[in-house]
Amino acid sequence: MPSSRLDEGMNAVRTTDGTSRMREVPAELPPIARESEAPRGRFRRIGRMRRVIRPLAAAGFALAATAASACPSALAGRTVAVDPATHGFGAVQKQPPLPLQPGEYVVTIDDGPNPKTTPALLDILRSRCIAATFFLVGRNAERHPELVRRIVAEGDGIGSHSFSHRDFGKLSRDGIAEEIWAGMRAVDIAAFGAFDESRRPRRLFRFPGSPGFAPALPPDLVAIANGAGAIVAGYDFSPEDWRNSPPEESFRRLLARLGDRGVILFHDGQSNTLELLPMVLDELERRGARVVRLAIGDG
Ligand SMILES: [Zn+2]
Repeated sequence: MPSSRLDEGMNAVRTTDGTSRMREVPAELPPIARESEAPRGRFRRIGRMRRVIRPLAAAGFALAATAASACPSALAGRTVAVDPATHGFGAVQKQPPLPLQPGEYVVTIDDGPNPKTTPALLDILRSRCIAATFFLVGRNAERHPELVRRIVAEGDGIGSHSFSHRDFGKLSRDGIAEEIWAGMRAVDIAAFGAFDESRRPRRLFRFPGSPGFAPALPPDLVAIANGAGAIVAGYDFSPEDWRNSPPEESFRRLLARLGDRGVILFHDGQSNTLELLPMVLDELERRGARVVRLAIGDG
């Protein structure tokens, strides 16, 4: 629903003009010290298994290009812990940045799960030995709990993205609170079979796009999300892949905006993203960057 995603397409503007923004991106980033091993044992084993049992054609060109790589890969970064006391993060939402080092990026994927694209996205991530965070729409999670369980089993993070991705700009504050709560509940039940309300603040929540919130989230909405036990998960850079424009176009758009670290937003359910994601990961690896895994606290 592109009309409700206008603010998802916005990107962090860290400089005042496009030229200086481009200069922020070094051709080669310095090596980054690994503070902890990125892929966990189960994660690595699944990655190896998939490379053996899945024919290359199953994931198409995207997997074929990197299927021979070993885990952990050069792209696999550390796990970054989000402080449970954090109210939110992400420059586009005017929230504080995550504690990332230069060359560290977080891959986030909104709007799933979607049986047409989520499995292929997971294959791409596994072929690179990296983990992403999926921001799931509650009603999609209800329809496809098996995909939610696969995401969790393979070591990716999950957050919620409202229950029905309605335009929050047209909802009352009570309606917004209900959408947030019902979305978290549906995602937890799909993933873990139960919803423990006392587990707070232990969840990530990303607001669905709405032009009514640009350019920043109203503080009371952040408070509503925090009150529901959620950390507001914003982002820093978007290729606006929700436009489903040619992947080369989305790729150029992202690179023009990409700072030296931050959270990148992709979308599930978009065919172009299946081509775009490997292009972006190739570019990050070429620069010596790392994709880090997000965890809340010690989780
Ligand atoms: Zn969305």
